[in-house]
Amino acid sequence: MKSRLSETLSFNGRGSIVCSCCEYKICDQDLHWKKSVIISEESMQDLCGDNYTVSQGLLLRRFFCPGCYALLDTETAIHDDPFLYDKIIK
Ligand SMILES: [Zn+2]
Repeated sequence: MKSRLSETLSFNGRGSIVCSCCEYKICDQDLHWKKSVIISEESMQDLCGDNYTVSQGLLLRRFFCPGCYALLDTETAIHDDPFLYDKIIK
């Protein structure tokens, strides 16, 4: 049975995490999915220009589906920070 992991990702009911848009198999459901997708990292300074003064070295990470290039998630981080994972507590 298919169920949602997030707005953009689903469990396919057969042990995998898939893109909700194109059904591309991202990885096994017991793995960290962000290690299996296309990642873009850009500095907030470069994205926002000279008016950005909040924090030097802050990055915007964007995660894209390898199958359809849909944007799956974003996060802000400092270089070499580990990926952030949502944890669902029932
Ligand atoms: Zn996709």
